[in-house]
Amino acid sequence: MTYESVKGMRDILPDEIAYWTKLEAAIRDIARRFGYSEIRPPIVEHTELFSRGIGEATDVVNKEMYTFPDKKGRSLTLRPEATASVVRSYVEHGMATQDPFQKLFYIGPMFRYEKPQKGRSRQFHQYGVEAIGSLDPALDVEVIAVAWSLMHALGLGGLSLRLNSIGCAGDREHYRDVLRAHFAPNIASMCKDCQRRYDENPLRILDCKERTCRPYINDAPGTSDHLCADCAKHFAAVRAHLDRLGLSYVIDPHLVRGLDYYTRTVFELVSSDLGAQDALLGGGRYDSLVGMLGGPETPGVGFAGGMERLILVLSEKEADLAGSRIDLFLAALGEEGWDIAIGLMNELRRTGLSVDVDYRRRSLRKQLALANKLGARHLIVLGDEEATKKRARIKEMDSGEERDIELDAAAIAAAV
Ligand code: AMP
Repeated sequence: MTYESVKGMRDILPDEIAYWTKLEAAIRDIARRFGYSEIRPPIVEHTELFSRGIGEATDVVNKEMYTFPDKKGRSLTLRPEATASVVRSYVEHGMATQDPFQKLFYIGPMFRYEKPQKGRSRQFHQYGVEAIGSLDPALDVEVIAVAWSLMHALGLGGLSLRLNSIGCAGDREHYRDVLRAHFAPNIASMCKDCQRRYDENPLRILDCKERTCRPYINDAPGTSDHLCADCAKHFAAVRAHLDRLGLSYVIDPHLVRGLDYYTRTVFELVSSDLGAQDALLGGGRYDSLVGMLGGPETPGVGFAGGMERLILVLSEKEADLAGSRIDLFLAALGEEGWDIAIGLMNELRRTGLSVDVDYRRRSLRKQLALANKLGARHLIVLGDEEATKKRARIKEMDSGEERDIELDAAAIAAAV
């Protein structure tokens, strides 16, 4: 009996790791530059955190959560996203009252029971930032600038920023009526999900991808024509800051995002190199979420990006990202050579060098092939003669240059 990984959840194998570590390092570097501190909330939370925070009427809560009872019958959920967890943590640890302005980032796995396809899986990884405690439109733009800077650091082009404002709770109440009036004549011809959304939350209809529903959605009125004066002013200020920074964007009046906690600014960064699942990241303001999760009314803004999708784009651009290379490979022939190799390897590793041998003790040809596979920068072959003389040849693999060296850890460490 053999086992396969669970559908939609896959192994990230060693030959892909170079992309992951490169991406994680870039995220950490950008977070440092912009002043965001890392937070690592747990993967499992009380189900209610998400049903309240993300919203009962969203697909994520409605259809996609991995929810299970624990041994005492409490309902727990594998997190489908991290904003609700970060905000819970912010409130739980008193940040909300003691130090209400916080800039945080996270990296980690998320779980959604969706149909697996290219760029969409059931366990996937997100990185994200959350800036909590200010309503200033400059902060919305800082968060967007974090996203742009990361893409720039990774050398990615072909991207566009879709931007919209969905206003405050009052604006959305009014906009829901506008949408219901728009869809009413045709709702019977639209999909079952849209019919449910029509009653529960017609904003969700705008996200529907069904071909039969698209024509009705395409000529629906946009959110930004239905903003109150304060929200319209905030949106204008966000655009002005973006213009000042030279960050380009396209206004998409139907962009509403799939999670209920958003208010005012919403955005997505899409890549022309990804097929149907083209959103690299999405985010926006959530000015009521802290209050909804039991904290004092505190505004916030953030985004989350999918790491698998970013790696898809990265790997197409940089087909063979150089993996890590080892400093030295010790090829051993015979018993004495082997003993010396093991001894030297351990001493050299203690000095901080990366050193390896062939534990399968194969032919010299196979050992040299392994040295190449590991990207060894230097090679020493240790046989009986070297063991007797306590000297060997060290080869610098890139240049092919060889020289004589004493078989002593300090001498070797100085040479590599
Ligand atoms: P969301 O949390 O739904 O706003 O999604 C933010 C980003 O996470 C998206 O733009 C995607 O890049 C990524 N993402 C969301 N769901 C998935 C999934 N099932 N598989 C892979 N990436 C995902």
